[in-house]
Amino acid sequence: MLEIESKQNTKILATVGPACDSYDNLLALVKAGVDVFRLNFSHGSHEQHQAVINRIQYINDKYGTHIGILADLQGPKLRVGLIENDGIQLNQGDEIVFTNEEKIGTKEGGVYMSYPEFANDVEVGEKVMVDDGKLVFEVVSTNKKDKVTLKTLFGGVLKPRKGVNLPNTKISQPCLTEKDLTDLEFILTQPVNWIALSFVRHPDDLRDLRRRVYAKGHPAKILAKIEKPEAITNLKEIIKESNGIMVARGDLGIEVPMERLPIIQKDIIKKCLKYARPVIVATQMLDSMTTNPFPTRAEVTDVANAVMDGADCLMLSGETSTGDHPITVVRQMARIIEEAEKKYDIKDKRPKPSNRTRTFNSDVVCNIAATAAMDLKAKAIIGVTSSGYTAFRLSSFRPKTEIYIFSDRMHMLATLNLVWGVKCFYYDRFTSTDQSINEINEYLKENGQVKKGDIVINTGSMPLQKRHRTNMLKVSEIE
Ligand code: PGA
Ligand code: MN
Repeated sequence: MLEIESKQNTKILATVGPACDSYDNLLALVKAGVDVFRLNFSHGSHEQHQAVINRIQYINDKYGTHIGILADLQGPKLRVGLIENDGIQLNQGDEIVFTNEEKIGTKEGGVYMSYPEFANDVEVGEKVMVDDGKLVFEVVSTNKKDKVTLKTLFGGVLKPRKGVNLPNTKISQPCLTEKDLTDLEFILTQPVNWIALSFVRHPDDLRDLRRRVYAKGHPAKILAKIEKPEAITNLKEIIKESNGIMVARGDLGIEVPMERLPIIQKDIIKKCLKYARPVIVATQMLDSMTTNPFPTRAEVTDVANAVMDGADCLMLSGETSTGDHPITVVRQMARIIEEAEKKYDIKDKRPKPSNRTRTFNSDVVCNIAATAAMDLKAKAIIGVTSSGYTAFRLSSFRPKTEIYIFSDRMHMLATLNLVWGVKCFYYDRFTSTDQSINEINEYLKENGQVKKGDIVINTGSMPLQKRHRTNMLKVSEIE
């Protein structure tokens, strides 16, 4: 057994990169509290990702952990090309041309931008943001073919390969790019648990990805990154079509006015609890720790606030992938989470089952299980799942007890490791309800999760063989 230092309900998702991708570092991160690793397909080769996946699998095999793997597709991330002298100075009012022609950019000759339909899709007056919104331009004219003239509103040095955001432009390019399709082909040969899609605008983007995943018979679940204004407009439909959501504050904070982020974050989390979709809060959570050994007071407060908003999982990006203190930052995050959870109950944020959904019956049973567990001061709620739904739903009520989930699908156990409070175990003997409840409770006792005299709430589905959604609960005292 691996000695895990932390005991948070809110999970930690750490991005893997050169600063932490060795076997020893990955293992140290798991001990420090990482529940799921993110492979960012904007960086790294398939060989590098393969090596990391093998190391995570090795940890899971050796220590019996269920560390999950999230593959993050780059999506239609736009960039400028190479630029002479490592950047050109642009002042307010200066004009610059963005072109489809791949060349070294100059102030007079124009700069390459990686979106082929740009001149066609963009309208005069729309904003163009470069380098995390540090430079802001407005479209003056477009030849509707391959050249767009921009006027500088906020100037600075336009550096090579920097990201471009088009918050107002209706982008015609599909969500999955050529690169994403090549990456997906590789991902679907791997034991990946979650596939995240960047710059989702419409539920159809997710349907397209899901079709491709199903076609390969792969069990991965699909996560939508909310980082475009259109995704905010279509939020409810996107949440329903996804298996999970990321509040991708990095790009979202460029695409919508930054001051809207706190309310958007709260709103997305609330809707995700309602629909029982796990939700990740991402980007700049402990950004200063990329170089410093301590966080800022504002960052500590941001992490704690995300916990109190009801997030399932918090993400680290550059802090772990390229930072100077990848392990310290995870320990720090775990400590902040634990402290916030100790003193805070989400109370009024708990969702109420809605009779307008197909899952109403099962949602009510899960809700009663969560309420009863709290009333009875039960040690744990125990669920059995094959689709994962019972785990998502039980967790959505954020009960103040342990949530132990049993499944006969090994892959599912690591998938559910992203979900608030959920701890997973393998179980595949589905003979009768009585017997499986007894066996599961006995197993937990032998493993030290529960002891004689503890009250636990078992949920399940009867008849067992039909494998319907959760439809029963039983209160047991451990013998
Ligand atoms: P990224 O996504 O790190 O892949 O850009 C997260 C974000 O935009 O916040
Ligand atoms: Mn992003």
